[in-house]
Amino acid sequence: MIIKSINPFSQEVIAEHELLTNAQLNQKLLLSEKAFINWRSTTFQERADKMRKLASVLRINKDKLALLITNEMGKIYAESISEVEKSADNCDFYAEHAEQILRDKIYDTPFKSMSVYDPIGAVFAIMPWNYPFWQVLRYAAPTIMAGNVTVLKHASNVMGCAKAIENAFLEAGFPEGVFQHISIEIAQVEDVIASNIVQGITLTGSEGAGSSVAAVAGKHIKKTVMELGGSDAFIVLDDANLEKAAKVAAQSRMLNAGQACICAKRFIVTSKIADEFVFLFSKNIQMIHQGNPLREDVQMGPLARLDLVETLASQLKNTLKQGAKLVIGGEHEGCNFQPTLIDFVTVDSTAFQEETFGPLATVIRAKNEEDAITIANNHKYGLAAALWTEDRARAYKLARRIEAGNVFVNSLVRSDSRIPFGGIKKSGYGRELGEIGIKEFMNMKSVIIE
Ligand code: NAP
Repeated sequence: MIIKSINPFSQEVIAEHELLTNAQLNQKLLLSEKAFINWRSTTFQERADKMRKLASVLRINKDKLALLITNEMGKIYAESISEVEKSADNCDFYAEHAEQILRDKIYDTPFKSMSVYDPIGAVFAIMPWNYPFWQVLRYAAPTIMAGNVTVLKHASNVMGCAKAIENAFLEAGFPEGVFQHISIEIAQVEDVIASNIVQGITLTGSEGAGSSVAAVAGKHIKKTVMELGGSDAFIVLDDANLEKAAKVAAQSRMLNAGQACICAKRFIVTSKIADEFVFLFSKNIQMIHQGNPLREDVQMGPLARLDLVETLASQLKNTLKQGAKLVIGGEHEGCNFQPTLIDFVTVDSTAFQEETFGPLATVIRAKNEEDAITIANNHKYGLAAALWTEDRARAYKLARRIEAGNVFVNSLVRSDSRIPFGGIKKSGYGRELGEIGIKEFMNMKSVIIE
């Protein structure tokens, strides 16, 4: 079976990729098994040298890799360059810190006792297309520094990126089988989960994919980390710096053409300042120039696939029918969807209830601070949230009440190699990045010596 990579801006077929047969897939899993035997006993120094080399391979080739990202999924070239650079930085971070994070932990007991961290085998990763390099290096750098090996099933529309990442690992000197990309269909996913070498599964993607993979992993008693969808609240209180909040609001909703799990999606604004915020927010959105993602004067490219445009258009249509008011945008053509702002969105409307994966900003007017927090928490997702207030002491108290895995006060929600990242509720479980990220797929073994 063949999968096509289609450039979302030009709609040209840019490559065709063949899927693995079951026999070829088994060969790949056997290679993982062989590679793990040696890789698990390498030293941190050996792993770190290769991981730093990988960072350098990514940086040296960043122009070529960024072009591939833009051609396959449509984000603007400058964002693709930043993504490759951030991926390289994550390799350096874990090369630098893995050994120290995974040092033995000694306990205060009358006998000698400690926790040691052992690798477990292969981690099977199922990844999305929206950050085709970052999502992969975010899990792969810690996984491989831990002494595990990995197999990646990337999203079907970014198979070129998957191949390029595998080539970068090989060019950096990693032995064959430490990082493998496997082009498989959903029907083959269970075989991979069931195989003996796979001891952990990490999925970044939609709630539906997460639920289905977690169920299969449960059947085979394999640990999972789930990084799923979000509908992040962006809460603006009476005393917020509105100029700054409106600027970051536009950035947070429209980056990557609105296709990020941590894009702010629900703008919950207290009624006293709502008119002014909407005015400033729409001014910032109007400044976004949409078009060919390879042009330097363009700030927003197309959505990654036509079906994503159709879904967003239908969510917008339903929400307008349910009483919301269109402030700007709303049109779409091909994969291009205008940056759009709607106001007076209600909590029972489609755009509030569902994740909107594209450049659609929804303003919900809250009576006051208490009402704003209630509206923010009144959702099935709990990935991240932003809170805007000039009162930092109050911000800390309110942040503790927000049901999300990450809360940012007066700034853009973003991920950072040093800080754990993940969600609660239907946004998933487990954490990536930071110290905890590398420990998710390890055997924390208690050793007691009398
Ligand atoms: P998706 O449709 O769920 O796809 C993600 C990956 O899962 C792809 O590789 C896809 O393969 C695979 N997949 C889909 N259904 C599956 C199933 N039943 N069994 C096994 N694998 C399956 O999501 P997407 O559209 O690519 O990405 C957008 C979603 O990801 C949004 O909900 C977004 O919020 C979420 N996301 C979350 C985070 C986070 O860190 N929490 C980060 C980025 C994105 P195919 O491509 O072959 O269908």
